[in-house]
Amino acid sequence: MDMGIAGRTALVCAASKGLGRGCAEALAAEGVDVTIVARTEQTLEETAARIRASAGVEVKAVACDITTQTGRAAALAACPSPDILVNNAGGPPPGDFRKYTHEAWIAALEANMLTPIALIQATIDGMIARGFGRIVNITSSSVKAPIDVLGLSNGARSGLTGFVAGVARQVAATGVTINNLLPGAFDTDRIHATIVAQAKANHISEDEARARRIQTIPAGRLGTPEEFGRACAFLCSAHAGYITGQNWLIDGGAYPGTY
Ligand code: NAD
Repeated sequence: MDMGIAGRTALVCAASKGLGRGCAEALAAEGVDVTIVARTEQTLEETAARIRASAGVEVKAVACDITTQTGRAAALAACPSPDILVNNAGGPPPGDFRKYTHEAWIAALEANMLTPIALIQATIDGMIARGFGRIVNITSSSVKAPIDVLGLSNGARSGLTGFVAGVARQVAATGVTINNLLPGAFDTDRIHATIVAQAKANHISEDEARARRIQTIPAGRLGTPEEFGRACAFLCSAHAGYITGQNWLIDGGAYPGTY
């Protein structure tokens, strides 16, 4: 299916690896010029080169911390008027809710709530003026079903989700959609780190910890960044203009509820 977005521009945050990279690759495959952002220059440049070579689109790479004001300014200087914004950043660390410090909360809120909001504020009026915009926030299944050790994530991402629910309706008649993608367990560095931590905590091998994790997923496997990216590309497509304010779980059936 032609997604109808060739020639559009996208700003994709936290995109040198994992789910962000999956989104950047899928958008580029649809002919979208992408600006990708991540902190580590070398990995970012390698990803940019690979996307350029495979998709033949314009790829800009901005090495910065997107959770800082200077990082966001650099990203927006490279891509001031994106048609598509994919908000993403590293997730907060796991921990015991009694021990979260004020600083840890501020860092989680900056990364997983205030940064996406700032980027939405900076780009949405241009989208409205041009009559087309797609904003996708990568959040987490923890928004729908809290994960005990990820209190910072449960809280900060829910704040973003509430904000987006309101704004999506305010701009729904302008050609701009805002949706959230809620990953379950995907095969990225992030999930690998979680599996290593679980192996250590339970005194089991990494293979055993991975097998136990997979047992909880009806699909019987972890998701891939490629399939996550394609779901993102569809939400950003010309065909998805009537989908807004939604929270799409992509979790291989792991969430046990009917709704
Ligand atoms: P990952 O570790 O594989 O990749 C993270 C990417 O983000 C890298 O490119 C890294 O350079 C970049 N990044 C991190 N912090 C950044 C910052 N401050 N500024 C700029 N770039 C930054 O992680 P992932 O698995 O792709 O996860 C992406 C997001 O999705 C995270 O917030 C994670 O918590 C969330 N998530 C992931 C899963 C999963 O199973 N992988 C599940 C639920 C939620």
